[in-house]
Amino acid sequence: MATAWLVMAVGDDRSHGGNDGYDDDPARHYSWDSTVPNSERPAVGDVIALWDKKSLLGVSVIEDIETGRAEKDRYTCPLPGCGKADFKPRKKKRPVYRCNECYGEFDVPNARREEVTTFRTRHATAWVDMAGALPGSVLRQLCDKPSQHSIRAMRWERLQTALAGVGVTASVTIAEQARRTITGGHRERVVRARVGQAEFRARLLERHGPVCAFTGPAPATVLEAAHLYSYAANGAHHDDGGLLLRRDVHRLFDLGHIAVDPATQALDVLPALAAYPAYAALHGTAPAVPLQRSRAWLEAHWAQHRSH
Ligand SMILES: [Zn+2]
Repeated sequence: MATAWLVMAVGDDRSHGGNDGYDDDPARHYSWDSTVPNSERPAVGDVIALWDKKSLLGVSVIEDIETGRAEKDRYTCPLPGCGKADFKPRKKKRPVYRCNECYGEFDVPNARREEVTTFRTRHATAWVDMAGALPGSVLRQLCDKPSQHSIRAMRWERLQTALAGVGVTASVTIAEQARRTITGGHRERVVRARVGQAEFRARLLERHGPVCAFTGPAPATVLEAAHLYSYAANGAHHDDGGLLLRRDVHRLFDLGHIAVDPATQALDVLPALAAYPAYAALHGTAPAVPLQRSRAWLEAHWAQHRSH
């Protein structure tokens, strides 16, 4: 059984403890810190499902988790012997706060600055928008146990079944493919590959100029460094193990929707993209830059995405 995390993207729970400074873009990142229950548990390769308390927003796979340190103001109950953080401001009644632990009432909580560990996922590659596909009531029932936490454990298989039941099977297949790509023995390599991303991209830009390897010249601002060595037998860093790709092309390449056919060295575009002329037109064309030196990596990519 694969682990999935139902995480609250917005809503009351996110203000608990004063979560200033979160920068969530549901399709790309999710941030939390060590004051949140389950904070240490999500791992690279796990499924992440974001919701807004009313319904599902989308599903992805965690590619990377960055950790850091930060200072944070924590607010606690000021009553003698309590010190818990279980209270929210009341809309009408005064005093403003009533502690759910000791039932004491107060207007001014104790404030204490403490150091916390911060966590931030990267999960843009496999993101599938599933806005409104499942209501909050169903998502709550899918969790392993009842909870009010902003990070809740569930089984990916159960979530898949529920999504299939409402007819979003194609999106589920994309997410599951991405999960297998990231977890299929590549877990550590994906993390390592992301180290030094900015430097790697700068080197590729210097070497090739502002050219998408598959589609041709493009402004540098839309070009990303695609790592090929997560597909290699060993994880050694090597410039030939990277391609500059336009951001949208990069994502389709990571998912295997665009690949290089080892037999012809031409681009191969999945029939699923036939409805999109700009992508369909790439099928059968030669890449915009010579890729001989990256051949072994591209063959491994092909083998992983097209040989079954
Ligand atoms: Zn209290």
